[in-house]
Amino acid sequence: MSSRPYPSRRQIRQQERAGEWSRSADAGGRSPGAGRASWDQEQQAATRRRRVRGGSRGRVRRTRAHRSAGLVLAAAGLLGTCSVVWAALNGGNPSVTAMHTPGTTTSVESEGDPSEPDPGPARSTGTKTPASRAGASFPMAVDKAAGVLSKTFPQTGTGKIASVAGTAAAPGPGPVKKVRVEVEGGLPIKSTLFASYVMKTLNDSRGWGHGGKMTFARTTGSADIVVTLASPKTSEKLCKPLETGGTLSCGIGSRAVLTVYRWVLTTPEFSDTREKYRQYLINHEVGHVLGHGHEQCAGKGRLAPVMMQQTKGLKGCLANPWPNP
Ligand SMILES: [Zn+2]
Repeated sequence: MSSRPYPSRRQIRQQERAGEWSRSADAGGRSPGAGRASWDQEQQAATRRRRVRGGSRGRVRRTRAHRSAGLVLAAAGLLGTCSVVWAALNGGNPSVTAMHTPGTTTSVESEGDPSEPDPGPARSTGTKTPASRAGASFPMAVDKAAGVLSKTFPQTGTGKIASVAGTAAAPGPGPVKKVRVEVEGGLPIKSTLFASYVMKTLNDSRGWGHGGKMTFARTTGSADIVVTLASPKTSEKLCKPLETGGTLSCGIGSRAVLTVYRWVLTTPEFSDTREKYRQYLINHEVGHVLGHGHEQCAGKGRLAPVMMQQTKGLKGCLANPWPNP
């Protein structure tokens, strides 16, 4: 594992299958008035965590998880949510066990990517997760521009989420959407750079505001859209009742919660185009906040719709971070 920082093709296929499940769950997981929630990538997060915790005993534990699934479902019922506890044993892959709570979900996008970086042995070593697959030269200029200062990050930040100081008027024509950018304390992130990255992405001419549909202003006060970058553990809490495992991002209500896990590591398919992945993550999650659901790859060689769960694999499509490429 340590010699292979990325998942094997077999692992990716297995995780893709996990993605298929997630999509179907997503399609049915909507509930009026409960806000919007979507996972991205989280499934594999959960998978990975289990894999690490369980090690060679993962399958045994999973079996136990199966037995306790009824209890989990019952507990979810008490919370007023409908949960789907899913345990996949694809091809012997001790992988995904994910709980989806569609009760508060408009879309579960678990971009639980096949693309997910292999947690490898690093995941079991404690509070730091090395972005080993990003290479020794990480962070590169492209990472620094996104505010990424280090290839390692804590599983838990300070728990204090602060608005990033700074405001900016909306640059374009059209209805103004106010955006507040937040970053949890204790992360190896240059907040100001992250915030600028978010706003630049949102206001790109290929973005949601294309053609004057809308334009984004930055505020530290009340906002239409909140973009929060948080540690795996904190993002997991923020995404509740969705089970993200901390490696999947989510959109819930007016908030796009990005896990630093994904922000730093991106996915194997995007490892050489991390800028593109980060732009995709912003546009995709904010897309959910704006009310957009998932789309599928329209055919081999076509550009992937931004609302396709690209983290889970491109399915023959070409990576695309833009709503209007
Ligand atoms: Zn999604």
